[in-house]
Amino acid sequence: MEYEIVIGLEIHAELKTRTKMFCNCRNEFGAKPNTLVCPVCLAMPGALPAMNRTAVEYAIRAGLAMNCSISSFTKMDRKNYFYPDLPRAYQISQYDRPLCYDGYVDIDVNGQYKRIGIERIHLEEDAGKLIHDACVTGSLVDYNRCGVPLIEIVSRPDISSPEEARIFLETIKTILEYVEVSDCKMQEGSLRADVNLSVRKPGDLLGTRTEMKNINSLHAVQRAAQAEADRQAAIISDGGSIIQETRRWDDSRGESYSMRNKEEALDYRFFPEPDLVPVVIEKERIEEIRKDLPELPTSRKDRYINDFGIPWYDAQLITQSRPLADMFETAVGVCGNPKLVSNWIMTDIMRRINEDKDFLSVSSLDGKKLGRVLDLLHKGDITPNSAKEILDILALEGGDPDAIIEKRGLKVQRDESLIAKAVGEVLDQNPQAVADYRSGKEKAFGFLMGRTMAALKGRADPAQVREMLIHHLNKQ
Ligand SMILES: [Zn+2]
Repeated sequence: MEYEIVIGLEIHAELKTRTKMFCNCRNEFGAKPNTLVCPVCLAMPGALPAMNRTAVEYAIRAGLAMNCSISSFTKMDRKNYFYPDLPRAYQISQYDRPLCYDGYVDIDVNGQYKRIGIERIHLEEDAGKLIHDACVTGSLVDYNRCGVPLIEIVSRPDISSPEEARIFLETIKTILEYVEVSDCKMQEGSLRADVNLSVRKPGDLLGTRTEMKNINSLHAVQRAAQAEADRQAAIISDGGSIIQETRRWDDSRGESYSMRNKEEALDYRFFPEPDLVPVVIEKERIEEIRKDLPELPTSRKDRYINDFGIPWYDAQLITQSRPLADMFETAVGVCGNPKLVSNWIMTDIMRRINEDKDFLSVSSLDGKKLGRVLDLLHKGDITPNSAKEILDILALEGGDPDAIIEKRGLKVQRDESLIAKAVGEVLDQNPQAVADYRSGKEKAFGFLMGRTMAALKGRADPAQVREMLIHHLNKQ
């Protein structure tokens, strides 16, 4: 392509606090419309907001996880605009003193790290939701979401392809899930992205950019960015120029439409929120929050690759979900064989997650039990087929791996006399195969081996069976 693509993302993430940002209404998705509201979030005259301390701490957690500096002095501002989903006619947000600034995250583009700058992360409140119901004349509005705490993460324009835009959003999502400040359910709108994009000839100054708002899937971000880059390149190639505007992306049609000319910050008449005091954050508190952060996905992934020898692809997939990475580490702790655990997670556990995305949170199969099953498999006490069977039972009914093995008689049979008896019977029943083997037909051995394993219901150590079979065949 003869044009370079320059992308910056603005990502809105709802914080999973128990209550809203400035009142005691519950912060919850999916309730009956307009049941989670009060005079404060409905902006009744005289109702005063009070800051939710947890929202501030969650935003600091997110900022530290993204390598930001944290402002010791921060304040809220009013962003003035009228829209029916905003009863105050202004949004309480942050203008010139964002809580977090100057950070970065490293994204992994097919095994190569690229650093994307984070310009700022600020706190603000969410607006309500307009419902355009075909059965009603006009539109309805649900204020339940009004006042839900949000962080807005603003990247620097360091992203240079639609694929990188998707990976960046995915990386931010994973980090927010790891530090447990947002549930990041994109289909419920708790994580959404605005894509700012321009194109230019290599070496040129930045081109005019457009903004596409509220894109709510990883895939859609990549598609929208690609379509917009193509659209802009085509206009410029035809000798036209790009209009600075806000566009709406329609993912089902794969097209974007002009919504309105882009507002400038001046249009919003920002001014300090007079109903809230500034927030002073002590250094000690910031350090406490930093100490409390979990190990982040990138560091975990590098450790899995370098210390455990896990392939990049597997490490990438496992660390993308904290519950899965936790399960992996717990299981490794029990059985001590990271490669075996990663193989079983990539196949058996991933299959279960693909069938039910909530598998890890609802199933009683945890890292400890998985580790125990794989430990027994590793020691040769159970067969791979038995391991699968035990995991099925653990996933469906729960229970204790050792008890299940005991009850179902799944322990590998090592009793020499039992194996010798099975071998003797198989040889008696298959004289032709025995004769074939003795006349040099190697294939016959595989057949006899299969018969013996079947006679032992597969619950025997193949090496031991092989040895005894050879012994008996040579003896007779
Ligand atoms: Zn309220």
